[in-house]
Amino acid sequence: MEREQAEKRVRELHDVLNQYNYEYHVLDKPSVSDAEYDSLLQELLTLERDFPELQTADSPTQRVGGNILEMFNKVEHRTPMLSLGNAFNEDDLRDFDRRVKQAVGDNVTYVCELKIDGLAVSLRYEDGLFVLGATRGDGTTGEDITMNLKTIKSIPLRLKEPVTMEVRGEAYMPKNSFENLNAAKMEREEEPFANPRNAAAGSLRQLDPKIAASRNLSVYVYSLADAGDAGVDSHREALDYLDKLGFKTNTERKVCTSIEEVLEYVTGWHTKRPDLSYDIDGIVIKVDNTEHQEQLGFTAKSPRWAIAYKFPAEEVTTKLLDIELNIGRTGVVTPTAILEPVRVAGTTVQRASLHNEDLIREKDIKLGDTVIVKKAGDIIPEVVNVLVDQRTGEERDFTMPTHCPECESELVRIEGEVALRCINPKCPAQIREGLIHFVSRNAMNIDGLGEKVIAQLFRENLIEDVADLYKLTKEQLLELERMGEKSADNLISAIEKTKDNSLERLLFGLGIRLVGAKAAKTLAQEFDHMDRLASLTKEELTAIHEIGDKMADSIVTYFEQPEVAELLAELKELGVNMAYKGPKPVSAEDVDSYFAGKTIVLTGKLEEMSRNDAKAAIEQLGGKVTGSVSKNTHLVIAGEDAGSKLTKAQELGIEVWDEKQMLKEIQS
Ligand SMILES: [Zn+2]
Repeated sequence: MEREQAEKRVRELHDVLNQYNYEYHVLDKPSVSDAEYDSLLQELLTLERDFPELQTADSPTQRVGGNILEMFNKVEHRTPMLSLGNAFNEDDLRDFDRRVKQAVGDNVTYVCELKIDGLAVSLRYEDGLFVLGATRGDGTTGEDITMNLKTIKSIPLRLKEPVTMEVRGEAYMPKNSFENLNAAKMEREEEPFANPRNAAAGSLRQLDPKIAASRNLSVYVYSLADAGDAGVDSHREALDYLDKLGFKTNTERKVCTSIEEVLEYVTGWHTKRPDLSYDIDGIVIKVDNTEHQEQLGFTAKSPRWAIAYKFPAEEVTTKLLDIELNIGRTGVVTPTAILEPVRVAGTTVQRASLHNEDLIREKDIKLGDTVIVKKAGDIIPEVVNVLVDQRTGEERDFTMPTHCPECESELVRIEGEVALRCINPKCPAQIREGLIHFVSRNAMNIDGLGEKVIAQLFRENLIEDVADLYKLTKEQLLELERMGEKSADNLISAIEKTKDNSLERLLFGLGIRLVGAKAAKTLAQEFDHMDRLASLTKEELTAIHEIGDKMADSIVTYFEQPEVAELLAELKELGVNMAYKGPKPVSAEDVDSYFAGKTIVLTGKLEEMSRNDAKAAIEQLGGKVTGSVSKNTHLVIAGEDAGSKLTKAQELGIEVWDEKQMLKEIQS
């Protein structure tokens, strides 16, 4: 394509992608499918690769996450990011109202807003272009997290007007993203995040922006750092102005003309809070009129014209009736508290995970204890502590059984792990959990086939492995309790439909240790077919950026098992698709560079650019940078004082370049 033509197309793609982004992430009204968006984005990526000079700071491609940073730079806020004074009850709010009225008279209007439970961020725009994003830090100095914030699609990279301004907002993780993230973390046997706020903060404080990009974060913008300059006279106008510029603001805000109305808003949201798709921890009340705000001014720490009402963390007491053991599909044993049903934050809770034996001992939990229960981040039920003075002497100590409650084989504690495991591969509990995993939403996603039906099918010996699902007949289903003709028909066709699923769903569904949904997607994209995957070596696997040693080992070991080969052959025979069907990433052939499609190792000290920058530049050109030299390495780039990797490359007869040669290729 000619340059001129490319430039025109790039501009078109910017406009249309920005518009789709805005519709989806700010207005919550998408007008195109994800696939359509992705294909346009791929087109833009390809154009920017062919014509790098056409890539701009506000290009929608910037959202995928760029180079890995070495560290976060400090940023001084132009106007300090103050915290708000707190109110914990009605009296505190009435006091606030009284103080305000004493200063500015009785004619006061308030704006009430939901207090999003996330991480405060500051966003700076110059001539409409997003140039700097920072954390609050100590209020005066924060950290530059621009690269991470750029990946958040509700943050406009360019405003609808060419204004220079700083705005403040709250970055947060929606509840469903939080749940998915934690599920994926557990999949990889990592510690889950305690609540959405920690998850959001953890995502934004990663040096690799690709991590933030994968975390599905969002931002509600709630104030202009200097409203006066923007020519607005009230907070309400400021918010409307922010809307107009293309920011996402929270629409649940309300203008209140009396403290009674404020209290009503507060109580209302206290009740409705569990229904929101994101976490809030209170209500922010601001004096609306800018002149009034100026009259009220600031204390040393916070503005006198605003206050944050904090919801009390809802904690209830109940009885711990029993501790049950759950065996996961990888054999991990999780003790779960069975509680006398109690209502917390909108739902009835009767179970809470106790995670492991150590935690039970730490909290000194006994069967029959009265315990305090809350929901961490308003989502996950948790036993906070035991009310020891409520003990009657009837409570009993809990001892962890030594054998699996389902298959009776001895439980083992693997070195370096806190969890106990049942390591019997024939353990019915593990098989059942594996089947539940196979049909789950991110795996084969079989409609109408939930945990209960699977458990029932398994109990009735109608299914033993995942292939059996595809052999179920209507007659068999009708034998189940509460299964009518219509549901049986629906279920059969829902199962049938999943035979066409793209490879990554099957791959994830198989439950290979450490292979989460995201890794499954990468593997499927990269290797296209199950047969290919089944024959890969560890080296071929670790050549993929996202696949580490442990995961590669786990994949190789998995496919080496004869039972796995049998299962796959059976699934194939039953007509289950084994190929990847989704969009391909920009392929190496599209890039005209020596590095394209090659596996490259960097070693020694580089003079002109950092190792990370070199790696990113090579990856931009379609190369893959790995850490160790093997016979699959195509090229070794050796800087000053290169050591054993260089020797090994020479031994294996692999091509070796110096830094100069690399720079020439990067810049060509
Ligand atoms: Zn077992």
